[in-house]
Amino acid sequence: MEKHHKFSIWYVLIGVWIVLLLQHSIVSMLAIKTIPYSEFLKLLKEGKIKEVAIGANQIQGRLAADASPNGRPMLFRTVRVDPEIAKLLAKYNVTFKGEVESTFLRDLFSWVVPIFLFVGVWYFFMKRMTGQQPGFMTLGKSKAKVYMEDDLQVTFDDVAGVDEAKQELREIVEFLKEPQKFTEIGGKMPKGVLLVGPPGTGKTLLAKAVAGESHVPFFSMSGSDFVEMFVGLGAARVRDLFDQAKKRAPCIIFIDELDALGKARGIGGVAGHDEREQTLNQLLVEMDGFDPTVGVILMAATNRPEILDPALLRPGRFDRHILVDRPDKKGREEILRVHLRNVKVADDVDVETIANMTSGMVGADLANLVNEAALLAVRRKKKKVTMKEFEEAVERVIAGLEKKNRLINEEERKIVAYHEVGHALVALSLPGTEPVKKISIVPRGISALGYTMQVPTEDRFLMKKTELLNKIASLLGGRAAEKLMFDDISTGAHNDLARATDIARSMVKEYGMSEKVGQVYFASQQKAQFLQTPVAEGGGEYSEATAQLIDNEVREIISAQYEKAKSILEEKKEVLIEGAEVLLQKEKIEGEELKAIMEAKGFSTPSES
Ligand code: ADP
Ligand code: MG
Ligand code: ZN
Repeated sequence: MEKHHKFSIWYVLIGVWIVLLLQHSIVSMLAIKTIPYSEFLKLLKEGKIKEVAIGANQIQGRLAADASPNGRPMLFRTVRVDPEIAKLLAKYNVTFKGEVESTFLRDLFSWVVPIFLFVGVWYFFMKRMTGQQPGFMTLGKSKAKVYMEDDLQVTFDDVAGVDEAKQELREIVEFLKEPQKFTEIGGKMPKGVLLVGPPGTGKTLLAKAVAGESHVPFFSMSGSDFVEMFVGLGAARVRDLFDQAKKRAPCIIFIDELDALGKARGIGGVAGHDEREQTLNQLLVEMDGFDPTVGVILMAATNRPEILDPALLRPGRFDRHILVDRPDKKGREEILRVHLRNVKVADDVDVETIANMTSGMVGADLANLVNEAALLAVRRKKKKVTMKEFEEAVERVIAGLEKKNRLINEEERKIVAYHEVGHALVALSLPGTEPVKKISIVPRGISALGYTMQVPTEDRFLMKKTELLNKIASLLGGRAAEKLMFDDISTGAHNDLARATDIARSMVKEYGMSEKVGQVYFASQQKAQFLQTPVAEGGGEYSEATAQLIDNEVREIISAQYEKAKSILEEKKEVLIEGAEVLLQKEKIEGEELKAIMEAKGFSTPSES
């Protein structure tokens, strides 16, 4: 790149020089003779001049045929002289001529400098907009060249918790190691592998690991890299990317964030739409045109497969889909161990406990968590990272960084405290709910005013009806506490209500848990076909009357659970008040502390199991 960049400036210089040279030589080629003005006047008087063209400074003209020495019409040029002086000079027979001051410098400033300015400005903007150094020669070349990595050091050992995806990718590694072995037997490799999964689950990492395991070059580009401001540039990039890759086969082409490029045509037709469409078409053309037996494997990743253009998913294109899902508890433990390899940890650190606390987190969150804990330990000048740092890191990652200095008024704080203790108390009082780990009213991140952290003892795949109902009750506990204490309700429960309603609706429509509606499946099935999850048959359509019935049932479930939450809190009002007081004072309390208050007031908690 650097080289090209220097060259381009030289091209400009050479170009300017050539133009100047040409201008000069054209003049001399025409053999225009410059004559003194006095001679011009003489010729004029002798009647030897046939025609002239008069300019502001100079006169050009042609002599009559008989006047020129070898019988040919001769071109001449003369520079004008002030007519008064000319008359006088002619009278005394002096030879005189006009002079034009050299225009070289003026020429230079009038158009060479602007050219440089123009090129400079253009260069500056290109650099700003594309983040790379453009040269005249590199405009259409893909940035993939920059991102080509040879012999990546990433292996499958660096990716944890996605065993199924790894299993499927092993075959591709085998193929890339020895493509001829496969083609000899006549085996056919998939052209395109699409990694599908939520952000941060390790899709990019997996693609790199495939390249690292098979020791082949890895060409990577992000979908958004293709979408450029110049129409046609994206398409040129795609072409170039494939050309380069074919030369280096066996290799992997990886397109990250395919959705940026592969959005279904016709969706969201704003600016840049044509360009994207062209680029996408070019990609399809390239995919159809290449023969996988040469050993080029195309991989792509997306977290929004549902918006991809169906043409991309057709057989012969991205026809193999690999799901990279959120890790389960065991997976999280493995991922943590991968990231803890380079961290000095104290003996009290229990990876399983951390994995327990991080339900729902993805690989990127866990990597972040380990880093955060290590930073905390450094800040505290510890030699090793202890469990305390990990616990704090978990909190930080869960709810964004603590913002102790954010001011909220006393009344709001009070409402939030009762609200949170309400959740916790209902959860503690009902069996089958996730144990309460911690309650906090330290404002965090952007929106959460407080939170009650409930940690499941294990990942759940099946839930009983009573468990679901109890979960709804504890979600509504926050609002019930507000109602009970202040006889008023706030907007703080809006997320709780949404979640409670979701669960209730699923119970009625999907799990057949409502007696009145019956064991019928009603959820409209819109699951995308790419995930290859078995799609439930039937359902999706129901009558107006059924819709009414479902709505009523959902409302009934919610209000029954709300009443349940309220009566629990009424019964344990003393605990609620004391818990909230402690919370207001300390900003944070452990679930165990609330439990202790409960027991001190003579209430028992259902044993967890
Ligand atoms: P995605 O492409 O799915 O959004 P990335 O591959 O970019 O996710 O993951 C970002 C980072 O998170 C990785 O560099 C790695 O440090 C960490 N990470 C994510 N998933 C895993 C995993 N399964 N095992 C180990 N580390 C992971
Ligand atoms: Mg990624
Ligand atoms: Zn709440």
